[in-house]
Amino acid sequence: MDKIFIMNLGTTSFKFKFYAFEGENCDVLATGELESVGAAMSHYEISYPDGRTIVDDTPIADHGAAFAHCFAILQRDGIIRDLDEMSAVGYKAVHGGNLSGTCLVDDALIAEMERVTPLAPAHNPIYLNAMKDIRKRFPGLIQVARFETSFHGSIPEKRVTYGVPYQWKEELGIRRYGFHGSSHQYISQTVARLQPGARRIINCHLGGSSSICAVLDGKSVATSMGATLQSGLFNNNRVGDFEPFCLKPIMEHYGYTLDETLNILSKKSGLLGLSGVSNDLRLVMEAADAGNKNAQLAVDTLCDNILGYIGMYAAYLNGLDALVFTGGIGTNSDVLRKKVCENLSYLGLELDEEKNAQRGDGIISTDTSKVTVWRLKTDEESVVAGCVREFLNAQ
Ligand code: AMP
Repeated sequence: MDKIFIMNLGTTSFKFKFYAFEGENCDVLATGELESVGAAMSHYEISYPDGRTIVDDTPIADHGAAFAHCFAILQRDGIIRDLDEMSAVGYKAVHGGNLSGTCLVDDALIAEMERVTPLAPAHNPIYLNAMKDIRKRFPGLIQVARFETSFHGSIPEKRVTYGVPYQWKEELGIRRYGFHGSSHQYISQTVARLQPGARRIINCHLGGSSSICAVLDGKSVATSMGATLQSGLFNNNRVGDFEPFCLKPIMEHYGYTLDETLNILSKKSGLLGLSGVSNDLRLVMEAADAGNKNAQLAVDTLCDNILGYIGMYAAYLNGLDALVFTGGIGTNSDVLRKKVCENLSYLGLELDEEKNAQRGDGIISTDTSKVTVWRLKTDEESVVAGCVREFLNAQ
């Protein structure tokens, strides 16, 4: 049996799923989430498949301490005997630069992730610190990273290349990588199972962080994020596509340094910056309904952004068989789905308003629609766990 502990890390959050693989079988033994990592007191919840949930508060200094704490609880509750029983820990790691796919966490991997940290400054340091800390605390434990860029390795070169001097790509790796690979891979595999004839799929992963991916025959052929997680759709508080020649006038007018400007573009822009209300689409929609014009503009711009990418990707795919909405926004906002789908009748797409208003996984287009529209919950950790297991088996 392979027991694999998968981590999904945010600046102050630590989420995990603990898997057991036996032959073709895969069971989730525990799931957990710690909030306010690094604060004076962290809150955590750990759940087991039998319905038991442990909820408590304790100080957790960093992500390494979070892993040690969760491991101790799993051990206490009889989920795992000792560290030797854990086959590996796996990370839903973000930017691996020249490394892609599923890789052993070793010195070379750490060096490459450090090299490309300027391209993922909000994400890579969190993973690097956790990897180094867990290695120090548990030196014998195998650590494996599955990079979020991995699924996009199949995008044709012409679509990952920017119109910049070619040596920037060669020397600095300035090119499109794409992210949210685990989610796009999960959705692509799920649609392949649920709708076997669907060759051309567009997946809209819309949540705290958003991207769109075009999939042809199970392979990513285009995606909206680029060299960094900042480009493409504008996100809850990130800018998305933006004109680099605007940096100079902004800096000169407001007296900002480059770092200050980039900080605003990555933390105070997107839905939050545009609406001035919140980075939560629910609150922005509420404000828009109450007559706030900037909030309405933020909602309209986001929907229009999504629509534009779908149009571009339908052209790349030369048609469309399935359109999927996933992520917190994609699965929960019937209003957004309706607004986006309203302008897709040229593809023969017909949304079923009644089905769209419901919840849970399922088809939300009419029986006569030429494009099948899906509302599907994603499961990124299961993809990472499967990849880590495959990696271990291949050693
Ligand atoms: P995720 O990162 O995929 O967990 O998605 C979280 C995001 O989903 C949050 O930013 C919420 O704003 C958004 N969200 C959740 N429910 C709704 C809803 N009913 N309408 C609009 N946005 C929602």
